[in-house]
Amino acid sequence: MSAAAKKIYLFANWKMYLNYAESRSLARALKKTAHDLPQRAGMAVFPSALAMVGVKEELSGSPVLLGAQNTYWVDRGGYTGEVSSAMYKAVGVRYALVGHSERRTIFHENNHDVRQKIEALLAVGITPVVCIGETKPERQDGSAEEVVEAQLRAAFTDLAWPEGRELIIAYEPVWAVNTGEPCAPEEAGRMCSLLKKNVAGLLGDIPAVFLYGGSVRPENVGDFIRQTDISGVLVGGASAKLETWSGIMAAAVK
Ligand code: PEP
Repeated sequence: MSAAAKKIYLFANWKMYLNYAESRSLARALKKTAHDLPQRAGMAVFPSALAMVGVKEELSGSPVLLGAQNTYWVDRGGYTGEVSSAMYKAVGVRYALVGHSERRTIFHENNHDVRQKIEALLAVGITPVVCIGETKPERQDGSAEEVVEAQLRAAFTDLAWPEGRELIIAYEPVWAVNTGEPCAPEEAGRMCSLLKKNVAGLLGDIPAVFLYGGSVRPENVGDFIRQTDISGVLVGGASAKLETWSGIMAAAVK
């Protein structure tokens, strides 16, 4: 499918960049610009847990979907500081990031946690956006492919994927996230093709969508979207500012 025809996913991970008022304000601005996007472009924003409901109110009536940055797999109980998949589902969240590199490296989330989260999200009807990627030393020592394949196996082996549920995987090399050092688009495309082959081996014939994430900017987004097996981008820092996110949206659908 040509880049001009394929469905494009534009996912904005606001991380911990915006407070409550700033999150609402950006959502209000995006509600206006979202209507200018072609129908084949789907946008989702991933605000902090604190801002989720306020952002939802601002986006009411717009096609922009809501995503959570992190979830916990138990529905409710004595888990101080956590927010469950079920709680996000109850306020209309459609997507949730799982295994983001900042969760894996700073908060020591492991492949077992990732799997628990995926299962809990599927059980409540939220689509996990499973983040996969190797660190710089792993790339340098030639084990990048082995690492991402192991992450995929931990996430999906013997998992019954619910019929009709989207399957979204973000290739986010750890060394490219929040560093200003993006992966070369052709290499990101090659890694996504490898992930695609592996996912087919693990889950069978389910259409999977692959996003690239890591220092995406208005000037490089088009090069990622043009790769055959990349259908969109997961953007952090540049998505939390109206100007750069508008530039990314415009360049992505050109
Ligand atoms: C991310 O948070 O998923 C991400 C890719 O961050 P950044 O765009 O800032 O590199």
